[in-house]
Amino acid sequence: MIKVAIAGARGKMGQEAVHTVIKNDKMMLVAALDYKNANTTLADTGLFPTDYTVPVYTDLAELNEATAPDVLIDLTSPEVVYTHTKQALTLGIRPVVGTTGFTDEQLAELTTLAQQQKRGCIIAPNFAVGAILMMKFAKEAARFFPDVEIIEMHHDQKLDAPSGTGLKTAQMIQEVRTAKEQGHPNEKETYAGARGANFDGMHIHSVRLPGLVAHQQVLFGGDGQLLTIRHDSFNRGSFMSGVAYCVEEVMTQQTLIYGLENLI
Ligand code: NAP
Repeated sequence: MIKVAIAGARGKMGQEAVHTVIKNDKMMLVAALDYKNANTTLADTGLFPTDYTVPVYTDLAELNEATAPDVLIDLTSPEVVYTHTKQALTLGIRPVVGTTGFTDEQLAELTTLAQQQKRGCIIAPNFAVGAILMMKFAKEAARFFPDVEIIEMHHDQKLDAPSGTGLKTAQMIQEVRTAKEQGHPNEKETYAGARGANFDGMHIHSVRLPGLVAHQQVLFGGDGQLLTIRHDSFNRGSFMSGVAYCVEEVMTQQTLIYGLENLI
């Protein structure tokens, strides 16, 4: 039985993850990590059934002392995820992180820490298997089509832009694409931001609208042709098989893995 704690259990993703872990017969939900509601249970939040009597802690060291989780699932916010992940590794807890917004420096530091601690750590900007395939197919297409624009579309409560998936897609494309500045050499934005973010000469556009969940199109333009690779997550259930997979997988790893595409 894998003992799991969840940070961000009251959130949209966190609530789904709570149900996923509780229903999984290989896992046991032992605690929730929050910044408030210490000494209560998940049931007390009113968001879960009354028999979800999982204790809530506001301090990870205290949570670890009392419940000794094997894995911490983090679905919180870009401001706190780095601290949570670092502290979890230091305490010997394996992080499975869905929260996006790490800097390259933070990822490098956590990679070293995971190695030192000999603990698995999976940071997955996207847990949806279809999205992973979309990124892999985009990388394949970029070998033939170096002119690419990424349009990522999310709900309007998302804090970071571009999305972790948009950025990860660009990084994977960068590995195979001959670097070039796209568009006209003399192009000029008459309105700031019109051409989106410039990543190694390709552009990433972030759309934020109510009603959306997580969607991305990768457009490849060639002579007289356009190839579009698109993935849509219509609800947060689309991420949960990936979360469960990572919880099991992280137990077998001793290093940091960034991106589910490196596992499947
Ligand atoms: P959300 O609904 O805002 O949930 C985040 C939750 O974390 C909120 O309940 C928030 O509390 C809580 N929180 C904030 N600071 C905390 C702390 N210090 N300790 C514990 N909990 C804390 O957001 P969401 O849509 O669930 O998304 C959560 C994260 O997952 C985001 O970074 C999002 O980009 C990412 N995400 C990843 C995937 C993936 O496949 N990897 C998919 C979707 C989303 P309050 O409500 O009090 O603020």
